[in-house]
Amino acid sequence: MVGNRPQFIKSAPLSLALRAAGIDETVLHTGQHYDPVLSDVFFAELGLGEPAYRLELRTADVEAMRPEIAAALGRERPDWVLVYGDTNSTLAGAEAAGETRVAHVEAGLRSFDLSMPEEHNRIAVDRRADLLFCPDERSAAQLERETVRGRREVVGDVMADAARLFAPIARGHSSIVDRLAVAPGDYVVLTIHRQANVVPARLRAILDGAAAIGRAVVFPAHPRARDTIDRERLPVGGRIRVVEPLGYLDFTALVSQAAAIVTDSGGLQKEAYWHRIPCVTVRPSTEWIDTVEVGANVLAEPEAISAALAAVRFPPDAPPLYGDGHASERIARHLLGSLSPA
Ligand code: UDP
Repeated sequence: MVGNRPQFIKSAPLSLALRAAGIDETVLHTGQHYDPVLSDVFFAELGLGEPAYRLELRTADVEAMRPEIAAALGRERPDWVLVYGDTNSTLAGAEAAGETRVAHVEAGLRSFDLSMPEEHNRIAVDRRADLLFCPDERSAAQLERETVRGRREVVGDVMADAARLFAPIARGHSSIVDRLAVAPGDYVVLTIHRQANVVPARLRAILDGAAAIGRAVVFPAHPRARDTIDRERLPVGGRIRVVEPLGYLDFTALVSQAAAIVTDSGGLQKEAYWHRIPCVTVRPSTEWIDTVEVGANVLAEPEAISAALAAVRFPPDAPPLYGDGHASERIARHLLGSLSPA
């Protein structure tokens, strides 16, 4: 069950691993975030095939999603419902599962910021799940503290699998750096899409902060950010270049050759780490706290972006974090084990 961009990316390596393990997968796309630039390109590019169910709901309303998902599950009668991450689609899928067992990929992550709707979704889905696939020991320990009833398995992060599998292909095939006429190692990539950051005053401050960086900044603007910029006629100064959101391969080629990343994305903080690129995160908290603790990622308010960027360096001795890029194979093995006759 998928509903938005990061979930398509997470599901791609897992679909390959499930196929390799001989497990049948039926993909349901809730259409929570429907925008062709955030959706269609990923199915084609990541070899996902067309989803069997496309609900085209275009809503983040859990109440609206739940019955439609339940109807599809009633037809398919799967052994497992697989949900990813922390969106309303994740919650709706888990709640719609009824008697069907639920496996949660990216279980146990917490930002401890209950003002984020995602934090509520994480907690609720982990309470419901029968099998919890944790990216690391920290998330497994968190679930132990919360005494969830499902079985925990530390498998690593499926996004690391995607980065491992697709980054070399991306750099080999994408011409994005040439198309944007930027020099590898000499530009910053900016992404902003959290609800709290796209309100006009805050987005204006972020754009001012990014303009102050004084070097080329490529900003593939999520439709949500683009809407605010256009509607409020926000000034885009400095050397910021606003472009359309990019497909995963172009985006991966771009970020993996950047000097630094400025973002409010969850996934991108980790990808920056795997690509060994320093990151500034424009959020008061992060669920990827290890990247901050080792000094590769800094949390900054909009006005501090430029100073934070000047100070952050990717530590040469940074330890490996969030798995080895083989989480999908482990997940497929656990699911297969649960399907075998006892
Ligand atoms: N991404 C992409 N194209 C873009 C911006 C981001 O493919 O123009 C990818 C990025 O590599 C990462 C994922 O989208 O894998 C992150 O998604 P997003 O920032 O929307 O969500 P979050 O991670 O915050 O849940």
